[in-house]
Amino acid sequence: MQELPELDIYRTFIAEHFAGAQITGIEITNAKIFQASDEQIQRDVVGKVVWFVERRGLYLVVHLDNGKRLLLHLGQGAYLYKGSEADKPSRAAQLKLIFGEAVLYGVGLRADDLQLLTVKENEEKLGKLGPDALDKRLTLERFIGRFAKKRGAIKTALMDQNVISGIGAAYSDEICFAAGIRPDAKIPMFEHETWERLYGAMHNVVREAISNGGAGEHAFSAEDSHTGKHRDQFQVYDREGQMCRSCEGVIEKIDVSGRKAFVCSNCQKDQ
Ligand SMILES: [Zn+2]
Repeated sequence: MQELPELDIYRTFIAEHFAGAQITGIEITNAKIFQASDEQIQRDVVGKVVWFVERRGLYLVVHLDNGKRLLLHLGQGAYLYKGSEADKPSRAAQLKLIFGEAVLYGVGLRADDLQLLTVKENEEKLGKLGPDALDKRLTLERFIGRFAKKRGAIKTALMDQNVISGIGAAYSDEICFAAGIRPDAKIPMFEHETWERLYGAMHNVVREAISNGGAGEHAFSAEDSHTGKHRDQFQVYDREGQMCRSCEGVIEKIDVSGRKAFVCSNCQKDQ
């Protein structure tokens, strides 16, 4: 799983290791994951310097010194690894972004997970995303406003990247638990106080996950021992049948609009 906290940790790692570094080569084992021509790659990627890296919702955007952007998406099971020719990730990588001796490997990538875009194309692609869950301009009132047209379950809306961006399957469950609200609770039932709890829970859950190293299953490099420490801190996500850490209840797995969700029916209510 790669949601806001995991991607934010990647952003920090990439900035630390590759900001200011020159891309000396790129190797793709499956042409579908990066549909740029050899000519474009030679002209716009190879020889260019990474200016900085930002996270937009569930995307990483690598800014190159020629003004172009490399937009990276990590789907289910995908991860990044910083190594070298001698220090490779355990699984076969589809992407090798080479920086002299250092290599940034991309594993588990699928079609179009890496795109070479102009600033305009990048904005067209990401401009319709909702505000980032950690965006400072996302006040409580604006947060509530984002859900104004939503009638369904809160989990589904939290995962809708056009409402708020950055939250996926795992952290939506964790946020609902922290707020004491069922993931299948219906939005029209919420009172102002319910939103206050959700808003506070979203910030606390996401920030805590980042400071714990997120829940990623693969270290970023041989030296990285921090990544994934948050996995043991999940209160409900993927804990079906286990005891709730706040009460005597047992965590259940339920279906919310076709997606699995994890809930403690004792701790979480409809509003
Ligand atoms: Zn409980």
